[in-house]
Amino acid sequence: MDLKHLNALETILGPKGLIHSADDMVLYETGARYDIGKAAFVARPENTEHVSKLLAYAVQNDIHLIPQSGNTGLVSASTPNPSGTQGILSLDRMNTVIGLDVHNKSVHAGAGIRLSTLNETLEKEGLMFPIDLGADPRLGGMIATNTGGTRCMRYGDVRMNTLGLTVVLADQKGTVLKLTNTLRKNNTGVDWKQMFIGTSGAFGVVTECVLNIVETPKQTATAYLVPNSIEAVPHLMRLMETKLGTMLSAFEGMSKNAITATYDHVTSLNNPFAGSTVPDYVILAEISRDWPLYEGEKPLKNVFEEVLAAVWEDETEPLADALVGRPEEMWALRHAISEGVKSAGKLIAFDVSFKRADSMRFISFMKTELPKSFPDITICDFGHVGDGGLHFNLVLKADDLRSKDPEFEQTLRSFVFDIVVNKYAGSYSAEHAIGPKNQHFYDLYTPAELKRLAHGFKSMSSPAPLGTVKFG
Ligand SMILES: Cc1cc2nc3c(=O)[nH]c(=O)nc-3n(C[C@H](O)[C@H](O)[C@H](O)COP(=O)(O)OP(=O)(O)OC[C@H]3O[C@@H](n4cnc5c(N)ncnc54)[C@H](O)[C@@H]3O)c2cc1C
Repeated sequence: MDLKHLNALETILGPKGLIHSADDMVLYETGARYDIGKAAFVARPENTEHVSKLLAYAVQNDIHLIPQSGNTGLVSASTPNPSGTQGILSLDRMNTVIGLDVHNKSVHAGAGIRLSTLNETLEKEGLMFPIDLGADPRLGGMIATNTGGTRCMRYGDVRMNTLGLTVVLADQKGTVLKLTNTLRKNNTGVDWKQMFIGTSGAFGVVTECVLNIVETPKQTATAYLVPNSIEAVPHLMRLMETKLGTMLSAFEGMSKNAITATYDHVTSLNNPFAGSTVPDYVILAEISRDWPLYEGEKPLKNVFEEVLAAVWEDETEPLADALVGRPEEMWALRHAISEGVKSAGKLIAFDVSFKRADSMRFISFMKTELPKSFPDITICDFGHVGDGGLHFNLVLKADDLRSKDPEFEQTLRSFVFDIVVNKYAGSYSAEHAIGPKNQHFYDLYTPAELKRLAHGFKSMSSPAPLGTVKFG
């Protein structure tokens, strides 16, 4: 990057606001799973005004910026390409809680705050931001990807928990859009904030957000359910919902292969299954209440045991075995599973979603169909059964030559997504949004009239290149 630009950026952002030494940039250039890019610089603005001046300068001087928050995204969208010409716009210094309103149940925060840090602040008031996952992202990235997570069935995704945003556009002026609404009811025309949620930063940079917050669960119980077959899972979930209503806060599925890979990788995890034999499929079910245990009320663990017994009594034969256990231990396996499957070999991951019952039908179908066209690939799936999301992970042995062939990966992706989209009317991107990893499938599956609309909004909002995704 031309020294004149680096000097100008440093004048805008101050000495702490710009990194351009190769060693210091590595952290920002390296994504959580796949990505290693090369940046011209890392800009670290401290406030919205900095971001506005930075974007205006970048647009006027043809500098392509990639917004980055926690860099945990899984579609290669938060790191620059290898050219060394793109700059990273990191939100990591915009990491404060700006205002907490316990009466409104909302929090106003900088887009660079980590989810865990936000929750540490909220916990003091018995509150939390209800999106929960096995990584620790920052809010801007969560908004740009519309993160779902493990309790989506109870609380919804980021879109459903965002009240307002401040956004800076990639135009000549670095226009600031103050969409920092704090109201739950506000039907005064177009809800513009939605255009910036789940759209990978292509339309603007989120600098602040106002989020819905909820009571922290005060009582929780978890169980591993071992269904007789995966075909029984939708019926089992429905039965649990009829008995437990909104108390059911998570219903997560884990295949034997995924669990085994995780136990192999994280040896400190406790294997609670009889004889340490991992079952074919396990559901982690969680129930929770957001009030303290009152006198005369049964502890949730007992409620869960009774309900599980009643569920089986209603059936001619039990649908599943159940093991009620300590929530921290049971969740430890679930939260380690992404890294566990990654360690099993060369991982090719598919973040797909279906109508809820179809995810199990899809798994059964693929167990038969995949080996016919692609032998010697292990299916290591796990997923958010409660919301129809499925992490359909395929693992090749590390020494399999196909693992080094990008064309093979693309052929495999086309094969799987064709079945997801055309046979099951599912989604090729459930909760990780769009990025270079799946841009091709956005281009392939998005109807022309929707691409035209997205392209139109891009030209009106942020006409300059921003981020890694091309809409339209
Ligand atoms: C172990 C593990 C488990 C995971 N589990 C889940 C899960 O259960 N559910 C789920 O949904 N995801 C999951 N993810 C994926 C990832 O954590 C989410 O996509 C995450 O919310 C991304 O946030 P981030 O802060 O890391 O964003 P980044 O990775 O930094 O960025 C993601 C995208 O947002 C854009 N962006 C970043 N900041 C801004 C901003 N301020 N304004 C505009 N655009 C911006 C980037 O350019 C990029 O396109 C998991 C990831 C890992 C590694």
